Amino acid sequence: MDGTVVIALGGNAILRRGQSGTAEEQLANLRATAEQIAEIIAADWRVILTHGNGPQVGNILLQNEEARHVVPPMPLDVCGAESQGQIGYLLQRALQDALRVRGMKHPVATVVTMVVVDENDPAFQQPTKPIGPCYSEARARELMERKGYIMKQDTSRGWRRVVPSPEPKRICEREAIRGLVELGVVTIACGGGGIPVVVRGDRLVGVEAVIDKDLASQRLASELGADVLLILTDVDGVAVNWQRPDQRFITSMTVQEARKYQAEGHFPPGSMGPKVEAAVRFVSGGGEQAVICSIESALAGLEGKAGTTIVP
Ligand code: ADP
Ligand code: MG
Repeated sequence: MDGTVVIALGGNAILRRGQSGTAEEQLANLRATAEQIAEIIAADWRVILTHGNGPQVGNILLQNEEARHVVPPMPLDVCGAESQGQIGYLLQRALQDALRVRGMKHPVATVVTMVVVDENDPAFQQPTKPIGPCYSEARARELMERKGYIMKQDTSRGWRRVVPSPEPKRICEREAIRGLVELGVVTIACGGGGIPVVVRGDRLVGVEAVIDKDLASQRLASELGADVLLILTDVDGVAVNWQRPDQRFITSMTVQEARKYQAEGHFPPGSMGPKVEAAVRFVSGGGEQAVICSIESALAGLEGKAGTTIVP
């Protein structure tokens, strides 16, 4: 096989449930992930990697909050860029090591990636995505007043900021990424869904929002003309009647079947919803197939032997 695959790594590729997020934990998890990716590269696929950043950007925001009297806090877009650098660095190390022991010499590089969103996206009228630390009610009220944040009470733990989650429209670094891929570089891009920016006049301006990483991965895959979009997560695949007695995993589904299950409410927003939507958009836009499977069965999924395959 000599195809191009965009691989979207889920949160569990970097951090497992219950871990605190030390650099050692993240590197150890990424080494396990890198073994799977190296198998795919060894099978002659050209690989572009994307990843989530929820816990990492959350911790960066918390550091900014705690140190705000000492160091000026960075806005969300800059924190997103920091998280791309942090995760990209650890993943580069893990991947280069995994490739080296296999005698493979592919270069690996991370691209700090901006993604253009539309300032008139309806998401800006209705922030939905909780980010960063939990605050006391007093501090939450101060932030709402002083910074114009929108804060919502998050269960009993306190208050959290919510930001809009607009649609990804265009990958700014697309041509840079394409060039790297053509040179044979294993490229890491679109971390955390990319840094959302809007075009104002002749400038790009970073905005306080978060783009869904599965939808951003689909944009990147479609813009690059990749053959396959492979979405790796912490379950074996897509199920209907999830967590009900009649739960059933789907081996393969067409766009039409996926749309029907979507309409029936099988895929909740914020978890399986955006993955199925990304898969459907990718194959509807000319992609050969999209696969949703567990990290542990990445190559098997790519070969149609595991997970859920979505075809036109
Ligand atoms: P990631 O970090 O990989 O994006 P998410 O938590 O966002 O992970 O999405 C994966 C989760 O989606 C699974 O752990 C599972 O609990 C949940 N899920 C919801 N609905 C379904 C479904 N219909 N089939 C499979 N998993 C589902
Ligand atoms: Mg997710």
